[in-house]
Amino acid sequence: MTTTTALIVAAGRGARFGGTQPKQYSRLGGKTILRHSLEAFCNHGAVDAVRAVIHRDDADLYRASAEGLPLLEPVAGGDTRQESVRLGLESLAVSAPAQVLIHDGARPLVDPATIDRVIQGLGERPGAIAALQVVDSLKQGADQVISGERNRDGLWRAQTPQGFHFEAILEAHRQQSGQSLTDDAAVATASGLTVGLVQGAEGNIKVTTNDDLATAEGYLKLRQGLPREEVRSGQGFDVHRFGPGDRVTLCGLAIPHDQGLVGHSDADVALHALTDAILGALGAGDIGEHFPPSDPQWAGAASDRFLAHAGALLRERGGRLANLDLTLICEVPKIGPHRQAMAARIAEILDLAPDRVSVKATTTEGLGFTGRREGIAAQAIATISLPGSADERD
Ligand code: MG
Repeated sequence: MTTTTALIVAAGRGARFGGTQPKQYSRLGGKTILRHSLEAFCNHGAVDAVRAVIHRDDADLYRASAEGLPLLEPVAGGDTRQESVRLGLESLAVSAPAQVLIHDGARPLVDPATIDRVIQGLGERPGAIAALQVVDSLKQGADQVISGERNRDGLWRAQTPQGFHFEAILEAHRQQSGQSLTDDAAVATASGLTVGLVQGAEGNIKVTTNDDLATAEGYLKLRQGLPREEVRSGQGFDVHRFGPGDRVTLCGLAIPHDQGLVGHSDADVALHALTDAILGALGAGDIGEHFPPSDPQWAGAASDRFLAHAGALLRERGGRLANLDLTLICEVPKIGPHRQAMAARIAEILDLAPDRVSVKATTTEGLGFTGRREGIAAQAIATISLPGSADERD
């Protein structure tokens, strides 16, 4: 029986990623990038064992990423990727599998069919790598000006896994140790091994930058059958009664009037309805839960902070506001002259483009409490988009 071990190379520092944490430990769809890579091989029926090569400083991060997976003990890597792979191969010399699949820990979305093709390729040659034919035209550039054309015929972009007969690649790595070769196929060919090219996959990207991470998220959702984004809406409704005063606060603006609005905060009925609409779209309760009227710290509070809080919750969830539509229902004061300024203030509170906010007004033709000029009602609809997610059920 042919034994196949996967060696997952995750010892890099990921300097290009920014932040303090190596890129393979960043999260993608609820798991670390490295865990996705490890799972892909642990779950593949033709792979008998999986070992990671990690940086000696990452032992804790690795343990958290690898929890519960059937893995060989990790080994520490070296100063370069090439050295890390060699150390990983040396650690397998005792068990000596027939073949080894070397894979970048930062390629989380490798699919089973790509792994199959690499293994199949090893039936014909001592090496086989996942790769994609170059389809874009190639230009030579100098000072950002084209200085020549390059023929793309016969050019491939190398991915991983890169599979090899174990003894052959171990020997090649020993021979080429200290060179600065960028991948194991280069090590193999430098030692005279024949390496086949098998079809890789566009989704099998190496996550190096934050842009790559966003691209990987898109591929992951595609694979899970999830939309990249999903649209949700929420509605809010509020009423405050008139009382003594010389102005009402609506949409954060003081509007002169011969009465005020009664409430625990500044009684800004419009911002309360908008806040509830956003909270509703998020399924995040209502304004009274977030800012209890029983709490004295909100007495007389300016309501823009309530709306800004709802906007911050939305951003924390990775969402954005598509639009807000507000209707104020009252006989007095006249809303028309203030509509634009109101919309602009709402947009400002939420850091939105003004055309995403609509403020409308209507009366109830003299009917009901607003018709009797007892107070003002406001209703609002918020439409938001959130990152697509699976339905979580118990
Ligand atoms: Mg209210």
